[in-house]
Amino acid sequence: MFKAKTNNVDETRQLAARLAEFVISKDLILLVGDLGAGKTAFTQGLGESLGVTDAITSPTFILARAYTGRLVLHHLDVYRIEDLDEVRDLALPELLEGDSVTVIEWGDQIVPAVPQNYLEVRLEYGLEDDQRYLTISRIGESWKNRMEALQEAVDEWIISE
Ligand code: ADP
Ligand code: MG
Repeated sequence: MFKAKTNNVDETRQLAARLAEFVISKDLILLVGDLGAGKTAFTQGLGESLGVTDAITSPTFILARAYTGRLVLHHLDVYRIEDLDEVRDLALPELLEGDSVTVIEWGDQIVPAVPQNYLEVRLEYGLEDDQRYLTISRIGESWKNRMEALQEAVDEWIISE
C-alpha cells in the first residue's frame, strides 16, 4: 500500500496513465471516493494510456461502458446500485474473463460481489481545492509482483508507504 498526492486533475490523470502501463488483461480496479474526488478523471488518464481515443465520460446513468484500446476498458459506476443483487445484471464474471481491464467507480459498494483480487485506488480531498490524496492498495495476489515497480513509476507523487 502506498499513498500519493496530486495537485491538480492533470496530475491525477498522469498518475493513472503511468499505472496503466502495469495493467494486464483481466485486471480489476476499484475506485473509491466521494463525488468529485476524481474517479472519472483517473479513469480518463488510465484509458488514454491504454490507447482509448473516445472521450471517457461518467457512466453514472448507464452503469457500464466499454472502450477499445490496447485492452478493452470496461468502465462501470455502481453509485446507483442499491442492492448487491443488482450486480448480477452487470455480468461481472463475463467482463472479468475477457481480454480487458475493468474499472469500477464506487467499487467499495460492491466488494462482497467481486473476486477478492484487485487494485483499490482510494481518492480523497486534500486541504486545498485541487489537491487529492490517492491511497493505492492491492487485495489478493494478482498485483503483488507489480506493486514495487508501480510505486516507483509514480514516485514523484508518493508521500508515504
Ligand atoms: P468522480 O468521478 O470521483 O465523481 P470526477 O473525476 O468526475 O470525480 O471529477 C473530479 C473533479 O475534481 C473534476 O472537476 C476535476 O477537474 C476536479 N479536480 C481538481 N483537482 C483534482 C485532482 N487533483 N485530481 C482529480 N480531480 C481533480
Ligand atoms: Mg465519476
